[in-house]
Amino acid sequence: MREIYLDNNATTKVDERVFEEMRPYFCELYGNPSSMHFFGGQVQKKVDEARARVASLLGALPDEIVFTACGTESDNAAIRSALEVFPEKRHIITSRVEHPAVLTQCRNLTKRGYRVTELNVDGNGQLDLNELEKALDEDTAIVSLMYANNETGVIFPIEEAARIVKKKGAIFHTDAVQAVGKIPLNMAESAIDMLSLSGHKLHAPKGVGVLYVRRGTPFRPMLVGGHQERGRRAGTENTASIIAMGKACELAEQYMADEAGRVRELRDRLERELTALIPNTRINGGGTDRLPNTLSIAMEFVEGEGILLLLSDKGICASSGSACTSGSLEPSHVLRAMGVPFTCAHGSIRFSLSRFTTDDDIDAVIKELPPIISRLREMSPFGREYLVQK
Ligand code: PLP
Repeated sequence: MREIYLDNNATTKVDERVFEEMRPYFCELYGNPSSMHFFGGQVQKKVDEARARVASLLGALPDEIVFTACGTESDNAAIRSALEVFPEKRHIITSRVEHPAVLTQCRNLTKRGYRVTELNVDGNGQLDLNELEKALDEDTAIVSLMYANNETGVIFPIEEAARIVKKKGAIFHTDAVQAVGKIPLNMAESAIDMLSLSGHKLHAPKGVGVLYVRRGTPFRPMLVGGHQERGRRAGTENTASIIAMGKACELAEQYMADEAGRVRELRDRLERELTALIPNTRINGGGTDRLPNTLSIAMEFVEGEGILLLLSDKGICASSGSACTSGSLEPSHVLRAMGVPFTCAHGSIRFSLSRFTTDDDIDAVIKELPPIISRLREMSPFGREYLVQK
């Protein structure tokens, strides 16, 4: 069965051009970039090139790029650093819809005496910057807000938020794991202090990330030991993956504008046709700015897990807006924070597209999903009640 892969916000295929770039750095060019000899030196040159490529995509300077092991590490390192830089400050601001890489860490910090404000979002998943302004005080060490939401694709007004935060002297960090490579970013004209990204969301392999740290931003490393990454992240570099990350960023920079337009057209067609063919649907985050590749569609009176399994039987890979916790199906924290009604949140499915998504992939979902929903609505007690009402 051919897979129709529409779960790119979970992870992406490694681009073959990226794979070819990293391939020699396992069995042939395996030197340690810190070594003095020529053999390590040639790897160091490629690591430097990768750093320059990442910097170029972000409109940053190469020495502002710190390679890490994943987006989660970058998020953790940013928050921990700010708390060490300002040991006297005990307040953190974030939002209710962050990825657990930020949210779990912040919630854990409350057990160590930190005060954490989780900003609310409206029905579209959007922030209210007045709430941010009111929450900031002299005690705020760091504000960490995501650039774009992994479940809904909703884009926060991050530049405005960063400017508000900088006026109060706190550090501003953004988790841009879902945004980088999908929408343009330019750190040269930004007020952001730190920004996280992750290789596997932009066609590089899993297990490599980046933390952008603006020049002049005080920083304390989470991992200490060797002097790698200018003392900001100890540990021998994951050279092959770093080189892959550089190539992935170069490709994103070259093709993003064209790809984003094509992907947006595919996503919009999927959205239009599904909402026309399936009654009682709504688009989560549909009334605000969203990533071009993400569609989170809520279908009333059905359960996401059932839909995913039946789609999977047809070769279609998507994900749901629920997390299966301790045997009970809880709607995701993002949809709950948006106030999506329980009957809709349960039946929320996320389709996330990439440069490899084709017209045929979209046609397949348009053909397969509507009959799956009718079948499930007939089977579920909620669905039957709804059909009787009609
Ligand atoms: N932040 C966001 C918004 C994400 O979507 C993810 C991954 O799903 C992460 C952070 C974590 O990245 P990684 O898997 O590289 O640790």
